[in-house]
Amino acid sequence: MSAALRTRGLGISFGEFRAVDDVNLTLEPGARQALIGPNGAGKTTLINLLTGVFKPTHGTIHMGERELTALSADKRARMGLARTFQINTLFPSLTPLLSVVLAISERDGLGAVWWRPLKRNKAAFDEAHALLGRLKLDALADVPVAELAYGKQRLLEIALAMAARPRILLLDEPAAGVPEDESGELFEVIAELPQDISVLFIEHDMNLVFRFSRRISVLVAGQILTEGTPAEIGRDPRVREVYLGH
Ligand code: ADP
Repeated sequence: MSAALRTRGLGISFGEFRAVDDVNLTLEPGARQALIGPNGAGKTTLINLLTGVFKPTHGTIHMGERELTALSADKRARMGLARTFQINTLFPSLTPLLSVVLAISERDGLGAVWWRPLKRNKAAFDEAHALLGRLKLDALADVPVAELAYGKQRLLEIALAMAARPRILLLDEPAAGVPEDESGELFEVIAELPQDISVLFIEHDMNLVFRFSRRISVLVAGQILTEGTPAEIGRDPRVREVYLGH
């Protein structure tokens, strides 16, 4: 079976500076893979290359058999590549239910066809309820986003990405800014997403990384230093050196 996502020799230079350099990254179907590395290692830039925000100066990106390298971000999203951002991108006055219904209508090309027709769109509402249930947000479906705990807001962002029915989900620090007592719960939901979705997440909290990833890629100075299972990465002296300086 071909990989869900694969890069070969992927790189981007900003002027003389190679922010991402010769990266071979593979995401298997159903992956729960962490992308770790020190600040400035190029993690967000790599995600921006994968999603098409940046065009690479070198290398290729494939999703299954299909090459994405030259495709626009929109086209990649329509092919099933979804992402969330480090910062909150929600509408504070909308409810989770309406936020997800809007995302579903956008996916289906209905755009912002406003309230009356949407309210009649029972299928979208049913799907939104099911999605909120999967992300354990169903009890909060009608609470304005601004009143949700921050961890719940981050979960809602994942729900919005899921509304596109992605095959690949790229999460840029999904637990950033989330209090510690909520971040485990957030990652439990990510771990339990359907197995046909491959997830790559950037995360700084090593407890979360080791608890919830099945594979870890370590990026240092734009290059993959090493990859492996949490057990392999945990005993790799090169990784310890990067993180602990000895
Ligand atoms: P990380 O996510 O691992 O902290 P980033 O991908 O944000 O790292 O950044 C990697 C390096 O690339 C940093 O040195 C950053 O300053 C640089 N960089 C990122 N985006 C740009 C850009 N648009 N122009 C110039 N330099 C950039």
